[in-house]
Amino acid sequence: MFDRKNKIEVNAILDTQIEEILKKTSQYEDLIEGKLICSSCGSTINYQNIGIMLPIENGTKIKFYCDRIDCAEQYKLDHE
Ligand SMILES: [Zn+2]
Repeated sequence: MFDRKNKIEVNAILDTQIEEILKKTSQYEDLIEGKLICSSCGSTINYQNIGIMLPIENGTKIKFYCDRIDCAEQYKLDHE
């Protein structure tokens, strides 16, 4: 279901869809346990602050950025 070059704009999708995606990549437990961190600032990722989900490793894992402006900028620097 993933095109690895396409990020997912999280504000466009539902919590239940986030859950579904993370269950597929086996990262749902990490979300619940607070083990997912923003690739830019290192903040713990939760449903409230997920900004960007970026499929990596052929869509088998998701890389996260939180919803801070700085982190969205960092995402652009890293990937665009
Ligand atoms: Zn961040």
